[in-house]
Amino acid sequence: MARLTILGTPFDDGTEAQFLTRFQTRLAKGVGTFVVTANPEIVMYARTHPDYQALIAKRADFVTADGIGILLGARILGSRLAARVTGYDLMQAMLQAAAAEGLRVALVGAKAAVLGQAKARLTAQHPGLNVCYQHDGYFDLADASVADAVVAAQPDLIFAALGFPKQERFLAGLQKRLPRAFMMGVGGSFDVAAGVVSRAPRWMQRVHLEWFYRLLKEPSRIGRMMVLPQFVWVVWRTRHQKGQR
Ligand code: UDP
Repeated sequence: MARLTILGTPFDDGTEAQFLTRFQTRLAKGVGTFVVTANPEIVMYARTHPDYQALIAKRADFVTADGIGILLGARILGSRLAARVTGYDLMQAMLQAAAAEGLRVALVGAKAAVLGQAKARLTAQHPGLNVCYQHDGYFDLADASVADAVVAAQPDLIFAALGFPKQERFLAGLQKRLPRAFMMGVGGSFDVAAGVVSRAPRWMQRVHLEWFYRLLKEPSRIGRMMVLPQFVWVVWRTRHQKGQR
């Protein structure tokens, strides 16, 4: 898979199906995989937090473009990324595979009630799903007890819905301790799975308006979303400066 870098954060180019094939092959072989689904907010945060940027660059086996902004950023830099690949969609596909194979799954993140409902719904959607460990996301990373409990449960797959950068820091801490596991940060995906937050209709996703749908549903996200025009501007400026050299 080709890799390109946008403002210091690497991205792997591929469709959802291509990523899933790679993930499932590695899982079957017992090769650990750490996936980051990065959006413009993550890229902008990583720019000013070098330890987080280095964590993504050095520790993630795959970084997917989670957001139309990333595809746009690649275009501005004169490259192209095949598709937007979201954490929620990857999680659903990996859970389906896990249920079919009888693999052990750990779910860490979200509020306790949301997590409980997400687990119930996911188990109904994927009959046979074996959730060997679950914990809400409101714990301090300095407290190792959740990480220790995950390791003790020996999951084959771990989904961390703690929001960034917490979820990536949490998973990076587990990488060496669970060297054969598939692990991925999935942001607000448990809220979606629980039905607390709804995803945009398919047609809106196709025309790249999911961000607009989320803004309509949660107007308080406007502050966070303002990072998108900033991101586009900084990428454009980078390109322009490069062009002058
Ligand atoms: N969350 C958590 N622990 C925290 C902070 C947040 O488990 O310390 C959860 C929160 O409940 C939500 C998810 O992390 O389920 C983050 O959602 P957000 O909408 O910020 O993620 P996005 O999909 O935008 O990355």
